[in-house]
Amino acid sequence: MAELIQGREIAANIKENLNKEIEALKDKYGICPCLCAIEVGQNPASAVYLKAQKKNAEKLGLDYKLHTLDKDIKEGKLVELICQLNNDKNVNGIILQLPVPAHLDAKKIINLINPLKDVEGMHPENLGKIVLNKQGLAPCTACAVMEILKSTGVDLYGKEVVVVGHSEIVGKPLALMLLNKFATTTVCHIGTGERGVLPEHVNRAEILVVAVGKAQLVKGNWVKPGAIVVDVGINRVEDKLVGDVEFDRASKRASFITPVPGGVGPITVAILMQNLVRATKIQLGE
Ligand code: NAP
Repeated sequence: MAELIQGREIAANIKENLNKEIEALKDKYGICPCLCAIEVGQNPASAVYLKAQKKNAEKLGLDYKLHTLDKDIKEGKLVELICQLNNDKNVNGIILQLPVPAHLDAKKIINLINPLKDVEGMHPENLGKIVLNKQGLAPCTACAVMEILKSTGVDLYGKEVVVVGHSEIVGKPLALMLLNKFATTTVCHIGTGERGVLPEHVNRAEILVVAVGKAQLVKGNWVKPGAIVVDVGINRVEDKLVGDVEFDRASKRASFITPVPGGVGPITVAILMQNLVRATKIQLGE
């Protein structure tokens, strides 16, 4: 039976270390890092993440401001707000909550966020730093998966790792981070699924990360005995949250597994706070 990876405990450790860094920033510079989130219109999926951001920031004594904009806002107005936040020296981190309404070009707007304030790590400059294996602000969920793997004590060097899902926010940056640790990384996506070879790839994985957003896509009996399974997916099924992996059967074969909820999610928010503190330090020239 797999050992359950406790996301809340890992998140608590990250936040405990952050507390010290935040105190040091307050003592040395008299400043408190400030995070600004922007939501355009209101969306129940974003509401959960926004609530977690606010709660975590407040608990750590960080400043948090939410700008809620009308769903029909003109792109120019949103760009104006981004520029204003970029230029405000009291703002250290900016998040554009996705998804945005279809009339807005999310990529174009993210590209306008000052990369030094891009705490979600989605600006091309920050994504490019992962390719170059340079320190920057990296996407929070991909970092959360790396923290989870670290917590298991696994040595990634040469390991067979399979990442299912190649989104720009999770799968792609994560695959590069794993590659930077010399893991033998395979990335599966819709093409793999449609060719019917997903079970085969999953079955080879000593470490399996699934970030697709399809309830129980990965069947428990595909999992290699002894594998580490990280399930990033969050799917609502009949009022219950489930992951992308068939948890009950997979946990009988895996050595470690993340639950949904309570696995990757809490760590993602802790990493966001860590990115805010890191961004503040970079802005201060530390
Ligand atoms: P996304 O942008 O929709 O990406 C999903 C990926 O899965 C795409 O690369 C897609 O390929 C691939 N895919 C779709 N069907 C597939 C199949 N049958 N077989 C193999 N690959 C398939 O989603 P995302 O933003 O990465 O999020 C993925 C999941 O993680 C969602 O449930 C989301 O809610 C969750 N999430 C959780 C956290 C957290 O903190 N826990 C954070 C972020 C996301 P194509 O693009 O080629 O179709």
